[in-house]
This record gives sequence, C-alpha cells and structure tokens, in this order.
Amino acid sequence: MSAMSTASCQSSPASSSSASTLDADPRENLIGLSRDELAERFAALGEKPFRVKQVWSWLYCHGVTDFAAMTNVSKDMRAKLEDNFRIARPTLSREQISTDGTRKWLLRFKDGNEAETVYIPDDDRGAVCVSTQVGCTLTCRFCHTGTQMLVRNLTAAEIAGQFMVARDSYGEWPTPNETGRLLSNVVVMGMGEPLFNYDETVKALGILIDPDGISLSRRRVTLSTSGVVPRMYDLGRDLPVNLAVSLHAATDDIRDQIMPINKKYPLKELMKACREYPGASNARRITFEYVMLKGINDSDADARALAKLAKGIPCKFNLLPFNKWPGAPFECSDWDRIERFADVLASLGFSAPIRIPRGRDILAACGQLKSESLRDRLKEVQARKAEAEVGDAAQG
Ligand code: SAH
Ligand code: SF4
Repeated sequence: MSAMSTASCQSSPASSSSASTLDADPRENLIGLSRDELAERFAALGEKPFRVKQVWSWLYCHGVTDFAAMTNVSKDMRAKLEDNFRIARPTLSREQISTDGTRKWLLRFKDGNEAETVYIPDDDRGAVCVSTQVGCTLTCRFCHTGTQMLVRNLTAAEIAGQFMVARDSYGEWPTPNETGRLLSNVVVMGMGEPLFNYDETVKALGILIDPDGISLSRRRVTLSTSGVVPRMYDLGRDLPVNLAVSLHAATDDIRDQIMPINKKYPLKELMKACREYPGASNARRITFEYVMLKGINDSDADARALAKLAKGIPCKFNLLPFNKWPGAPFECSDWDRIERFADVLASLGFSAPIRIPRGRDILAACGQLKSESLRDRLKEVQARKAEAEVGDAAQG
C-alpha cells in the first residue's frame, strides 16, 4: 500500500446525543442487512427471492436513497418497502477538507453518537478510512481513542454507511469501473478495534465487496488490528482481507507497556497468527504498523529486534511518525532517527517506508473535528442559557 496506510482517524468519541438530533423513525434500515436477511424480510412481505438481487443493486450499485427510484420494482412492492423500511446513512455533522485533498467527515448515527471517517486521495485512487466503534476498550498509550471509554460498537449499517456517505460525497454512484474510482480502497483503521466488533465489521466488509453491489475487490480492503489473536484466525477463515497489525514494539517488555493487549496476546502468539494468516505472500504482504515514539521504541537495537521478529513473514513496515495530541505521554522521534530506523530495516531486507502524515492541517490533532463540534455545541447551549437568564431577569 502507499500513503493510504496513514489513513487512521483515531479520535475521541462524542456523546452528543440530544433530543433534537435523535432519529425516531422506527422502520428497519435496509442498509446493513445481508442478502439472506433481505430474503427473509421480503418473504415475510410475500415477495419473491429474485427481488433481493434487484433491490440490492439499487441500494449498493446505484446508491439510491429513495424507494421511488427503484424503477424496475412494482409500485405495489415499493409501497410495501416504504411502509416497512428505510434506506438510511449516517448523517453529516461536520466536514473538513485539507489542502492536500484529504477529507474528514464527522458522521452522526441514529442515536446521536458520532465517529470520524476520512478520505485520503492518492494519485489515481484513494482510501476511505472507516471506524468500527465509538471509542475503544483498549488503552494503547499513544492513541487518543484509547483515552476514551468504549461507547458502543457500530453496526454493519453504520460501518458500510460510512463508505456510502463518502461515495455520495464524491458522486461515485452507480458503481463505476474498477479503474475509474476515486474511492478505490477501504482501510479499517478508524476509531475502535475492529476485531472486538467482529461480526458487524465482517458483515459490513462483506457488503462492500459483494460483486453485485459496491464490488470492491478483497485486495482493496485492509483491516488493522492491535493483535486480537483468536479473531485473526477467524478473519483469515471468514474474510481474508489484507491485514495490518499494529506492532509498535519489538519486545514484550515494551509492548506490554504501550499496548496492554500484549499481556493477553504476547508477541510470540501474535507472530504465529501472522505467519499463519492465509494468503500472506510476497504479493500480499502483512503490514506492520510502527509508531515512532522518541526514546521508547526507536533505537537501532529496536529496528534489529524487529527484523528478527518478522523474519520469514511476508511483510512490510509502515513507520508512522507519532501524531501528538494534547496530554499525550510521548514525543515523536526526531526525523533523522526515523530515517535511520528505516535504513536499518531496509539494510536487513525489509521495506519500511515512512508514512508522511496526510491532511496534517485537519488531522494535526486527532479528534479535533469532533472536539470542535462539541465545543461549538457547548457554546450554543451556554448562549441559550444566558439568553434565558437575561429573559428571566427582565421578567423579574
Ligand atoms: N484499533 C486498530 C485500528 C485503529 S488505529 C489498531 O490498533 O490497529 C489505526 C492505526 O493508527 C494503528 O496502527 C494505531 O496504532 C495507529 N495510531 C494510533 N494512535 C496514533 C498516533 N497518535 N500517532 C500515530 N499513529 C497512531
Ligand atoms: Fe487506539 Fe489501541 Fe484502540 Fe487501536 S486498539 S483504536 S490503537 S486504543
């Protein structure tokens, strides 16, 4: 992968639900249902199974949001669909566009919770970075999301919906040719640990790669995990997409300190799961993400230990300059240290590009968009309160 691997959008969860933002529509969302679930729902309405393919194509190939647009579906069935279902995406809460074309959306879900989705363009393609949870149960010490409690898992509809919103935004419906797509890749590197929301994540990715719909190639999907070992085996069996592993340390000692999940699944087990990940080959290498933390994991000895650890695994490293956030307990390694680290790995036969962070102006502080959004809302509430107090005083 190229610079796309920097498409992480870790940030803080927003507990922004307020009565006015809640969507009370009780109809079930068609987005996020599997084909089998659609068939069940349609059978309950007395509709034939072949309707599934038709409706699926409208939803995921054409991206329609209105039943009236389903012109080859009978009026009668459209009315039934309208009565029972809706076609809903997350709604846009905020949007930021970087000078380098990176685009970041703060998306709001039905219950008012929000998460970030990022689009990172490359020369002739681009990756959409999706979130799988609001918050995270893990507490990796370099990660801003890790400072937040898990609010909840996202549903398949909400995960696939993030990609669909991005497509809406770029007008990429109906599904164009593989070569013509701006939104060509998906990276599951946003908020949350995708393998702790396994079923919904796999279901969402299944929707994105379905050949009758959005039809992304499996090779254009990369999932990043902090190393939930048993689920890596499950993923390899159920949906062997490209795998990225947040490694960040070459010894258990250091990894235990910065990624507590290492105490549960130490490096030996993690490396075994990587070795056994199906489809890993020189053409389809596992990506090891490695955040450069000054004085913690960035010495020549660390680089050599890393090479030893990864020996025999078809892999490459992505060196990520640490993206500092307010209150972060680390500094980013100096640039010449990062370059030296990359050189040591290269001299030992590993590809180890340094990922220049994209969209610095909007991603500079992860979660900034969301924090700003919360701040603005807080200001509004305070202003309204002040107005009410002035009104009360005038009346009194
Ligand atoms: N939970 C998953 C995916 C989301 S994080 C995981 O941990 O892999 C996506 C990537 O961004 C991970 O490699 C993560 O370690 C990295 N990351 C988190 N915080 C970072 C920061 N402040 N600077 C640079 N990379 C960071
Ligand atoms: Fe951040 Fe760790 Fe959670 Fe990934 S697993 S989102 S790095 S806290």
